[in-house]
Amino acid sequence: MEASKNKIVKITAIVLAAMIFITAAVLSGFAIAGSVRVSNAEKMSVNYDGEKLNVILMIGDGMGFNHIKAAEAEYGRLFFANEADYAGEVTTFSRNVFGPTDSAAAATALATGHKTDNGHVGQYRGKDLKSTTEIAVELGMSTGIIATEGVDGATPAGFSAHTASRNNLDEIIKDQLTSGVNLYFGSNAVRYAPMKAEISKSYAYVDNIADIPTAGDKIFAAFEEIPLVADGASKPSLAMLATMAIDILSQNENGFFLMIEESHIDKCSHDNDLSGALEHVKAYDYAVKAVVDYAEKLGNTIVIVTADHETGGLQYNGESKDELSDGMYTKGSHTSANVPFFVFGDIDYDLDNITDNTMIAKLCQAVISAK
Ligand SMILES: [Zn+2]
Repeated sequence: MEASKNKIVKITAIVLAAMIFITAAVLSGFAIAGSVRVSNAEKMSVNYDGEKLNVILMIGDGMGFNHIKAAEAEYGRLFFANEADYAGEVTTFSRNVFGPTDSAAAATALATGHKTDNGHVGQYRGKDLKSTTEIAVELGMSTGIIATEGVDGATPAGFSAHTASRNNLDEIIKDQLTSGVNLYFGSNAVRYAPMKAEISKSYAYVDNIADIPTAGDKIFAAFEEIPLVADGASKPSLAMLATMAIDILSQNENGFFLMIEESHIDKCSHDNDLSGALEHVKAYDYAVKAVVDYAEKLGNTIVIVTADHETGGLQYNGESKDELSDGMYTKGSHTSANVPFFVFGDIDYDLDNITDNTMIAKLCQAVISAK
């Protein structure tokens, strides 16, 4: 990635705040006793040339380290994110101490930098938590949310809504339509079709890629499906949608924040369907490469690749492609295993190799606020 170091902006205040938050969090005891759950964030700074700065956060729902290793065995090549400038592990625990996080609490942590209880979306005990998306909107940046499920799923909702339960789908869509987010790309067209009139009051509503405006303020796209390989205008691939989104969002001279989720690694892993999960890891990998290639072309763009939690307790012990099996799953639920993070971009990044998911939000917010 092109280095531009005319101006170096140190984000020490933000990191200090993050350290105080994490220290307070640990002292207040919401971490499970007996395990070290957060790292010491020493410093973080962003090299920045004074022009616009973009952040793309990519989340593989349910994707642990072993999902990546198994996908590498299946497809005979390394996961593209291995080429990142920085990499490490993320702790994923929520405020619920008796089990692993769900996607709502994890998305809230990744979006706002605050822990919450499982099921809650952008809120902690009834109080709204400000997300990176909202900060970006306030800064006059363009914003986009992409998911391979409906955009009312827990992960995209965590970046665009505030509600006490991930099941409050009507509240989530209501929040999303007034959020100021420029672009929603997701699937589940069947669910959204009856809402077309309502959505069309504030967004250009489309259900196929041929109708996506090349520019424009607000676009809400609900596709039939977002498969590994595009299959006609109503079934685009994630990589294709990510590229189209960047085309549109990068027209804003104030920069953009884009969240992209591959939602189905989790769903297949709940079913212990390894080949299904690995197909989606592959789709995510394609999207990561497309996004990083585009980011390098744009310059001034940080790409963070991570997951919200691990699903299925997937074991991997060097199995070859032919030896991969559904039996490598040990659970049908989420686990507390750390998940990977990768950062592509010209930043001085000095977090420990093991950090917390709230620090991903702090990093996104530090970068978009660094101008
Ligand atoms: Zn799940």
